[in-house]
Amino acid sequence: GMMLIRRRYVWRAFLGHAAVILAVTFIPYLGVTLPNLRQMTLTVIPLDTYYSYINYSEITTIENAISASIFQNGTLNWDSVDQLRRSSAFFWRSTHIYMALPKAIFIIYMFRTLLLILDDSKKEILQHANQDELTQLKSRRYGMMQMKQVLKSVEDHQDISVILLDLDWFKEVNDSYGHEIGDRVLVEVAQTLLQSLTDETIVSRYGGEEFLIVLPDTKHDTAMIIAEQLRRVIAKHVIILDDDTTFSVTASLGLYTLTHGERNCIKQACETLNKKDASQSLAKPQRIPSYSSKRVNLKIPAVQLPHDICQRLICMADKALYEAKGRGRDQVVSANEMLAAKNNNIEALYGT
Ligand code: GH3
Ligand code: MG
Ligand code: MG
Repeated sequence: GMMLIRRRYVWRAFLGHAAVILAVTFIPYLGVTLPNLRQMTLTVIPLDTYYSYINYSEITTIENAISASIFQNGTLNWDSVDQLRRSSAFFWRSTHIYMALPKAIFIIYMFRTLLLILDDSKKEILQHANQDELTQLKSRRYGMMQMKQVLKSVEDHQDISVILLDLDWFKEVNDSYGHEIGDRVLVEVAQTLLQSLTDETIVSRYGGEEFLIVLPDTKHDTAMIIAEQLRRVIAKHVIILDDDTTFSVTASLGLYTLTHGERNCIKQACETLNKKDASQSLAKPQRIPSYSSKRVNLKIPAVQLPHDICQRLICMADKALYEAKGRGRDQVVSANEMLAAKNNNIEALYGT
């Protein structure tokens, strides 16, 4: 309200009030008896409100009109005083609304703007975290996150295949043509991969010149065909430099398929382990809960795959990739076939 009234009037009013309060307090000590307010008669009151207010001329007019009615015939009319009191209440309420509303709108607007800025920066940060800047493929973190989701949502009869693809002799590409051309090769290989694979396939840049490809609901034989096609398409792709020099790169691929049978075996093994843990913990002396304590949750949790299942599958594909490099590069090796050859079984593999 103070902001609506000119400052000089506020100061005058303040000093005037202070003087009146001091006078009313000390006058009785000087032997002067103050008249009873109810018997007081006034003829003139110096209401200078017209110039006191900045923008509220209507309110001032209302107040002037009411104040005129207070002093009908020179006597104080208490009904009018009450009216004036209500009018003041109206003035202050409208002042609150006039003053607070723009501020509230401004604050809401500011909050909205801030939230939008935060939302935008969150999106930007997420994009940086989820997308590889060079190749525009999914980042390693995001690729693995999606792989985890696929493993969670996979149906009982579905197999999942994982391919780890590494470009051959890539260091030599950098050494021969420079780092920039090396980058261009990575971009072109990434585009080739995206063009050759379906939208359901998760393609991410796993490392420098290493790509992780997750094929949901893909059996081993189909995955082998896809991996072989990828190998061929990369080998066929020609990189043309500005001076018309051309060259191509090859890739080695390691593949591992987690069949639904193996997945169920892993789940069962985990379940057995959980049960063993539970029975061991039950064997320990436990505090018997009182009836007043919380209800015990008897819900049995759904059997889950090990938390590091993604790393284990990638590790298997990596072993196959290492084998492919060892066998002379530019080829696909299946970890499942390696295992079959070694006559290993799933228990030995997962150490359960
Ligand atoms: P191998 O066939 O055994 O895989 O040989 P390689 O030369 O491909 O493997 P190595 O691990 O020795 O070298 C990988 C090279 O990839 C080294 C590094 O300079 C290069 N590299 C990694 N990331 C990038 C990148 O983002 N851009 C470029 N231009 N080069 C990269
Ligand atoms: Mg390499
Ligand atoms: Mg590598």
